[in-house]
Amino acid sequence: MSSQSDIAAAAALLREHPRILVACHESPDGDALGSLIGVGRSLQDAGWDVAFWAPGDAPLPADYLWLGLADVARPPPADASERVLLAVDCGSAERLGADGAATVAGAVASLNLDHHGDNTRFAGVNLVDAASPCATILVLSLLRELGLPISLEVAEALYVGVVTDTGRFMYANATAESHRVAAELIELGVDPAEIFRRIYEGKPAARVELMARILSSLELRLDGRLAVAYVTIADLDATNAGEADSEGVIDFLRSIEGVEVAALVRAPRSGEGKVHKCSLRSAQPEIDVARIAHVGGGGGHTLAAGFTVDGSAADAVMLIEREMTRA
Ligand code: AMP
Ligand code: MN
Ligand code: MN
Repeated sequence: MSSQSDIAAAAALLREHPRILVACHESPDGDALGSLIGVGRSLQDAGWDVAFWAPGDAPLPADYLWLGLADVARPPPADASERVLLAVDCGSAERLGADGAATVAGAVASLNLDHHGDNTRFAGVNLVDAASPCATILVLSLLRELGLPISLEVAEALYVGVVTDTGRFMYANATAESHRVAAELIELGVDPAEIFRRIYEGKPAARVELMARILSSLELRLDGRLAVAYVTIADLDATNAGEADSEGVIDFLRSIEGVEVAALVRAPRSGEGKVHKCSLRSAQPEIDVARIAHVGGGGGHTLAAGFTVDGSAADAVMLIEREMTRA
């Protein structure tokens, strides 16, 4: 649980240091990129020297390019060790990719702004609140503590985190607070229908073709308690789609009657050998998919988590089945 003193400590650290490297987790989603741009542009507008870093080499998701990601570096910038590292929406230093832990250790100081319940508190200052629906709401608290104005560009970026991490205000974290913050951002000029259009509409046909292929691989296992679907390199090649284009498909798996856990197993283009990325969603609050993800070396939230296996898709499914049938 973050406290006012965590927010004050985070603000004090930023006030002391004019050079910041803001970074989000690899394979970034709307909350990661919304937090990255929201906090980064706001500090930049107020005079900080800000560098942006999104670890990994897979193309950034097209849904969020309108946030203005042209100056987001992919390998960490050469002067990373001269900056304070501000990690957003990252449960651990490993979520910053292979260079993550070293970059945190080599930075002038480090600040961890996050809402994952399994956050490892890997930084010098940790602004972590597992009760926060998304990281962008914590960014908003921090910007307010710093007394910075919220421009329309920043408000839109923060709104993206709220909309995407709450599943468009449909998941269990769609609390009164998330609605209140959304209302505040709308009062600052955000147009929800316009943001909806930018994120969810105008998709290339390849996206829907990929979804059709993924859904046709559906397997109902453990008497229908586990729904699994697969994304193969062949699927990506056949539809000319990218890794990030499978986002959202997992919600269809979770919606099936009787399903307790939904899993989407992806063969990443950039992965070496047999590496597979697995996304997990729980359909019931009492089933904690972060626990399963931890066994696989990953992490996340109770209802949404993920892990990467150094093995085949079947290995990933075996691990999930084993953990779901554990007495
Ligand atoms: P995703 O399925 O990629 O949308 O991720 C769902 C949630 O699990 C997010 O909160 C991620 O931050 C987290 N997550 C996904 N993959 C991993 C991983 N390999 N390690 C730790 N957390 C993960
Ligand atoms: Mn995220
Ligand atoms: Mn998040």
